[in-house]
Amino acid sequence: MEHNPLHLLIVEDDADTRANLRDILTLNGHSVETATGMADVLSRTAWSTFGAVILDRKLPDGTAEELLPHLRQVAPEAAVIVVTGFGDLDGAIAAIRHGAADYLLKPISPDLLLSRVTRIAEHRRLALEKSELEHQVRQAEKLAAVGQLTAGLAHEIGTPLNVISGRAEMLLERMAADDPSRGDIERILVQIERITKLVTQMLNFARTRPPEIRPIGLLPLVQEVLALFEHQVRSHHIAVQVDGSGPVSTIRADPDQMQQLLFNLLHNAIDAMPDGGTLTIRIDRTGPRQEGEDATDGCYMRLEIADTGVGIAPEHLTRVFEPFFTTKAVGKGTGLGLAVSHRIVQNHGGRIEVKSEVGEGTVFSAYLPIEPEVDGAAESGRDE
Ligand code: ADP
Ligand code: MG
Repeated sequence: MEHNPLHLLIVEDDADTRANLRDILTLNGHSVETATGMADVLSRTAWSTFGAVILDRKLPDGTAEELLPHLRQVAPEAAVIVVTGFGDLDGAIAAIRHGAADYLLKPISPDLLLSRVTRIAEHRRLALEKSELEHQVRQAEKLAAVGQLTAGLAHEIGTPLNVISGRAEMLLERMAADDPSRGDIERILVQIERITKLVTQMLNFARTRPPEIRPIGLLPLVQEVLALFEHQVRSHHIAVQVDGSGPVSTIRADPDQMQQLLFNLLHNAIDAMPDGGTLTIRIDRTGPRQEGEDATDGCYMRLEIADTGVGIAPEHLTRVFEPFFTTKAVGKGTGLGLAVSHRIVQNHGGRIEVKSEVGEGTVFSAYLPIEPEVDGAAESGRDE
């Protein structure tokens, strides 16, 4: 069986050849759709699913060279293998010149077909891995740049802000209880408080303090943080389920950072359910996350926060961990909660994932190593 199954389109007018090709490919684990001619191909849409197209050079209503420019445009990711008659090497060359990745001569040898398709599948897998890696690197660079900028900015804003709020408080103290300007000063202080909160969050985000590792029970911590949301949970009619029935929820991690992680995730989940719903928190042990990962069984604690809220649109799903990405109203969201959470989990050697369905709800899963390997972190508590 093929380890990298591809989804292929076979374009062939001869019914027997079509069935033949399809059988060879599907028997080897690939999935196949078929088209009978050029018009059939031109009428199709969902191109992104195809990893390869097997294209007969001479179709009743056109040739591969005519179809190739269209295919390159609508399905740039799909590799095209052109099938030409024996002795039609000129045709094969023309097809390659028009963007085909490969050619096969008739009669088609099943082995040759399969080896070509396997090669394309392998190429595709490597290309996908590469772009995923590049995406991660870009993301990390962006985070680092934003972190530096943010730290500087937050620091610069913090100092004058302290002076302003100090002076405003002094003014208020000196005012008579019935002074008509009291309301104005109080309003100024409320707004200063808002900026201070934001600045603190920005500093939290920018700070690269290594985690101070100690044993903590995730379950008691969940209860503790949940208590902070008691009021919102009740007023929004949110049902809360905590499922920590697993053996123990103890991991070695930084308690403050874990608290912040929980706070951010719960805050978002509650925000997502303005008309009520169910908030489910699950804690369990899991094995290594990926095959071949160098770790023994049960070495991660999975912390799952699930809501039945508004969900996240697919085009936003890849961006939610970006700093300053928010869909919330100005003054309501900062777009830093998940960026901070992502960094916290990463600093602990873990991973955070999100799954969401618009109108159904969202699940955030944080995988935290039970024994983190954080550089110098185990000692930092003692040394400082
Ligand atoms: P903020 O909450 O300040 O907007 P976050 O980084 O915490 O910033 O979240 C970024 C965005 O991700 C939110 O604005 C929202 O669009 C989306 N999001 C996060 N959690 C959820 C959730 N549980 N349900 C729906 N959307 C969410
Ligand atoms: Mg948030």
